[in-house]
Amino acid sequence: MNIPLKDVITSIDDEELYKLQSDLENNAPVLKSLVRDRLKEIENKKRSFCAGCGENILDNERAYTLVFGADSCKKKASFCAHDCLEFFLARLKEIESEKLKIEEEKTKNGISQPTPKGNL
Ligand SMILES: [Zn+2]
Repeated sequence: MNIPLKDVITSIDDEELYKLQSDLENNAPVLKSLVRDRLKEIENKKRSFCAGCGENILDNERAYTLVFGADSCKKKASFCAHDCLEFFLARLKEIESEKLKIEEEKTKNGISQPTPKGNL
């Protein structure tokens, strides 16, 4: 379900909206707590399928779960076995390496191509 924030705000009744405004004016402790609890709920939700091979892992008690990414954008993936986890990590490493190469090329090209001077 993907509900735009504007639609969430317009669906709140007046009394709740005034409470929300008051909370926001006080550094939003209630809202922060609600968001934190919901993210914990999402993070603790068991994944249905292996991110490596697609096998159903709902009944797999030995499944592995990996939480990765920056603090501001955590991602979660589950795996049926360690070989799928290892394959995923190897692929992730390749992708990161490719991104690094692209960034290095951009930097290199930026330095080797002097910007025109004068007529601007
Ligand atoms: Zn798997």
